[in-house]
Amino acid sequence: MKPQNAASENSFPVSRNVAKMQMSSTLKAGQIAGELRERGFDVIDLTLGEPDFPTPEFIKQYAWEGLQKGLTKYTPTAGLKTFQESICEFYAGQFGANVSPKEIVATCGGKQALFNAVCTLINPQDEVLIPKPYWVTFPEIVNFAGAKSVYIETETTDFVLTAEAVKRAITDKTKLLIINSPNNPTGRVIPPAEMRKIVEVCAERNVYVLTDECYLFFAYSPSKVFTSAALPEELRKFVCVAGSFSKTYAMTGWRIGYTIAPEEWTRQMTKLQSHSTSHPTSFVQYACARAMENSGETMDAVNGMLAEYERRKNWLIPALQSVKGFKCGEPEGAFYAFVDVREMLGNKFKNSAEVANLLLEKAHVVVTDGAGFGAEGFLRISYATSIENLQNAVAKIKQLFD
Ligand code: PLP
Repeated sequence: MKPQNAASENSFPVSRNVAKMQMSSTLKAGQIAGELRERGFDVIDLTLGEPDFPTPEFIKQYAWEGLQKGLTKYTPTAGLKTFQESICEFYAGQFGANVSPKEIVATCGGKQALFNAVCTLINPQDEVLIPKPYWVTFPEIVNFAGAKSVYIETETTDFVLTAEAVKRAITDKTKLLIINSPNNPTGRVIPPAEMRKIVEVCAERNVYVLTDECYLFFAYSPSKVFTSAALPEELRKFVCVAGSFSKTYAMTGWRIGYTIAPEEWTRQMTKLQSHSTSHPTSFVQYACARAMENSGETMDAVNGMLAEYERRKNWLIPALQSVKGFKCGEPEGAFYAFVDVREMLGNKFKNSAEVANLLLEKAHVVVTDGAGFGAEGFLRISYATSIENLQNAVAKIKQLFD
């Protein structure tokens, strides 16, 4: 007898939880760019969600040092002690935060940090607040956990989440709010005082807050660089910080991040992780620990990259604003321009995907359609690429639309 759930010849009996997931739209756009390039087209890819800088040389050396020290074995699930301690030391030095090593789990990138946090807290039927536009993975994780995403519109406050909007959105079922600042895809940054108010509103109502800080330090105004790890103890009881080395330190391929969360939440995340990836690569943890300890050279490298992103932004935004039909605010952080193309919709284009498709087909410029971020009518243009690429891309876009 054929067992229940058995795969037929050409269909795989995918689980319900995964069947309802969508493939990451940002990865898909990058794939299209790669395919066109393989076919010999001169493609300008502005979909990149990763720094175009190489990992700083000294961090590569630290990884080599770790290997030479024989760090090729399993580490504790929550990470090497030196990794945990160095994160605490770094956050104390940079932000005056008082974090204990027992509150740290080393993860395989920010994505695993987010997964761990959501899956240890959320039950089916819970509601999770997600401001719109959102990073594509947030609703997918919530969906995977069987819970319901409840979206908060932010356009009336220029895409910056406010405590007032959070207060209005909380119901009896709300268990968690997920925030990302500096934001992908909008480039907006929530001011530190507002962030604190948002956490206060949540804490007063027993709602937890997961802050995705993977663009840490990537706010162009130093006064807007902020981490919720520096909030007072009574607020931090409700907060899990999802950190990542990917963007800030140009280490996307190394797959390393961390959580900073209250001890009990941390214990539960450690338990969950002990049955999935166990821990991130041993000598990568070592390299990151050394980078955190040597915060002077690390911050020099970060500030160098940030200055270059800012230089590109300063050229790109006025250039995009001069394209007929494009409206584009000034990004305050991260490395994305968020372009409103709603003025162009109607006869020629039904939606922003069609605008993105025309750019792809006629100009071979690949951008990400906003619909995947819950922002139909917008395009995300990454400036994690050379200024020459940006200049060529804008010239081609202008040719098409002007
Ligand atoms: N969070 C946001 C907002 C991102 O844009 C990304 C990557 O694109 C991540 C988290 C995940 O980064 P990683 O898993 O590489 O640390």
